[in-house]
Amino acid sequence: AAKAAGKSAYQTCTPALRESAVSRAELIADLRRAVEEGQLHLEYQPIVDLATGVVRSAEALVRWRHPRLGVLAPAKFLPVAEETGLILPVDRWVIHEACRAAAAWRERAPQVTVAVNIAAAHLRRPDLIATVQAATAGAGLPPCALTLELTESALIEGSDAVLDQLRQLRELGIRIAIDDFGTGYSSLSYLHRIPATELKVDRSFVARLGAEDPRAYATVDMVNRLAAAFDLAVVAEGVETDAQHAAITAIGCVHGQGFRYGRPAPLPELLATLTPVDVTR
Ligand code: C2E
Ligand code: MG
Ligand code: MG
Ligand code: MG
Repeated sequence: AAKAAGKSAYQTCTPALRESAVSRAELIADLRRAVEEGQLHLEYQPIVDLATGVVRSAEALVRWRHPRLGVLAPAKFLPVAEETGLILPVDRWVIHEACRAAAAWRERAPQVTVAVNIAAAHLRRPDLIATVQAATAGAGLPPCALTLELTESALIEGSDAVLDQLRQLRELGIRIAIDDFGTGYSSLSYLHRIPATELKVDRSFVARLGAEDPRAYATVDMVNRLAAAFDLAVVAEGVETDAQHAAITAIGCVHGQGFRYGRPAPLPELLATLTPVDVTR
């Protein structure tokens, strides 16, 4: 019975995939076409200054409007994309699209930067720099307005060539964030080597702040102090409640991201949050 329950629970998690019985091979073939046929799009989630609520940046998050399955979240297709190498054209498209969007919104809100997620496989490719340069220059976006988000695990496997590439990106002015910080099997020693500009505190730690878990509080506090000592900016991820907002603010985090401030949304919705509402009308 437990096995049956587990199975049906799994199935209700992925009704679209089950009903249309899309095989892995079909998904791969579909994904191959998705970039060319313009089926990918980006949503943008604001990263706010906790003291003022002002939007400082926006993270681009990819979605796939599949012709039969509807809109798929990254968890539904990025694992397959990573296994097949299709992540490279996907991430390339994301970098170009996000740079174009950011260059446009900065005409209204010049201080608002953009962040994109970069897969580990991409980091190992020597052409990442060329891609980033082409995207920023092509869009007319200053390199300092683009942050690449990398996970700890991507950085840990980093060879000297990867570190070298990261240093070159930094020299161009590109910002580098360590995403989901605290969840990898990292030793702290790599922080000395990675030329990062910011840490994103993983939302699993932030989630426990609401429950007034003293250890969760200590963890976020420690990451915040560590970041200060390394001269890195901090973003607390996954802030959903007022209690979590109060806790990260008390700890002294400068930036926050999460449903409390704004969900990932299409570009027009982000733009609306960048233009202050005229309350005099
Ligand atoms: P991430 O980079 O850590 O992005 C944050 C994820 O947390 C997003 O999920 C976002 O929707 C979700 N989130 C934000 N605030 C909250 C909150 O308050 N509560 C909860 N429960 N969740 C929140 P999403 O969009 O499903 O993306 C999942 C992951 O997929 C991302 O995690 C990132 O690692 C990866 N990803 C997304 N877009 C891309 C991309 O273009 N390229 C690559 N390589 N990876 C991507
Ligand atoms: Mg991210
Ligand atoms: Mg993250
Ligand atoms: Mg995370």
